[in-house]
Amino acid sequence: MKKILVFILTVSFALLSCTQKESSRIEFALGTVCVVTLYDNAHDKIYNDIFLRLREIENRMSVNIPSSDVSRINSAAGIKPVLVNEDVFMVIERAKYFAEISNGAFDPTVGPLVSLWGIGSDEQRVPPLSEIEKAVNLINWRNVELNAEAKSVYLTVQGMALDLGAIAKGYAADEAALIAINAGVKRAKIDLGGNVILIGEKTDKTPWKVGIQNPGEERGSVLGIVQITPSLQSPFTKTIVTSGVYERFFEENGKRYHHIFDPSTGFPSYNGLLSVTIITNNSMDADALSTAVFVLGYEKGNALLESFPETEAVFVFDDRSAKTTADANFIFF
Ligand code: FAD
Ligand code: MG
Repeated sequence: MKKILVFILTVSFALLSCTQKESSRIEFALGTVCVVTLYDNAHDKIYNDIFLRLREIENRMSVNIPSSDVSRINSAAGIKPVLVNEDVFMVIERAKYFAEISNGAFDPTVGPLVSLWGIGSDEQRVPPLSEIEKAVNLINWRNVELNAEAKSVYLTVQGMALDLGAIAKGYAADEAALIAINAGVKRAKIDLGGNVILIGEKTDKTPWKVGIQNPGEERGSVLGIVQITPSLQSPFTKTIVTSGVYERFFEENGKRYHHIFDPSTGFPSYNGLLSVTIITNNSMDADALSTAVFVLGYEKGNALLESFPETEAVFVFDDRSAKTTADANFIFF
């Protein structure tokens, strides 16, 4: 049944492509496949500008690029503050905000833990408890000192490390959308490895449909779809962002170790959730929230979301059941 629906969705997408003169550009950036589709005004220059900006953000915020602002901050931990670009400063400031309101469930200083486990790399493994404890002791967003005038960032304890993997892709998606809108694009879809932004409405005025991955099945098999109906807001944009256990993980002795950590335990977060999808207006916030809510779990996560207007969520549990917030337009297959 699910396979048939996936097929129908794929065929409808193909038909849509024929009728709307769709053009897409797909490139690998930010550690993921980025697909930008401009349904109107699809000029090369706009695509070029978007991908240039994505690479600029990667060059500034990646922990894998030694010259990035974030790598320079990490190398200077416990030594000195580092001057950074304004966008990097702003993303770190916002990351601290989400760390505070989530009580550290989302914490951008999770870097030592991410490198220790190495999930997604050739060195992934279950580390010894003593090393996990050492890494956990280095995680504390309060030890990120920001100087707004100088635009400098200082990690006050040696060994600390920032990792913006749970927020920077969202920021990048917002930036890509802004470039498209400023260039006069009225309808577009931006998908940065699961951080989706929709701009405008479809030509046939039907709602946008975004599939939610079935965590247990092969990529592209969906558990249900979120329907997005454009409002009067202009320019209309909506973002759909998912954090889940199925993208980066390894298995050992029948146990799955995935990439979203509970900073309080140093282990991947296990609380019955397989994925959390956030639907809202700002992709950076949605990215941080999807990770925060995933770690907080259903009850606390839901409570946190109540303070965010126009923000909906879909929670998928390990028995493949799903719950949603009141106004999420989710169709479960
Ligand atoms: P999210 O839930 O949004 O984020 C999970 C990621 O955030 C984890 O992978 C980890 O990095 C971090 N994290 C884990 N737990 C927490 C927590 N509790 N609080 C805060 N953060 C947490 N991947 C590559 O393989 N190679 C690359 O070179 C590479 N470069 C990248 C450069 C940039 C600028 C960005 C933004 C990402 C890059 N990535 C790269 C991908 C990155 O490593 C993450 O895997 C990815 O961002 C995870 O996004 P997500 O939406 O799947 O999960
Ligand atoms: Mg995230």
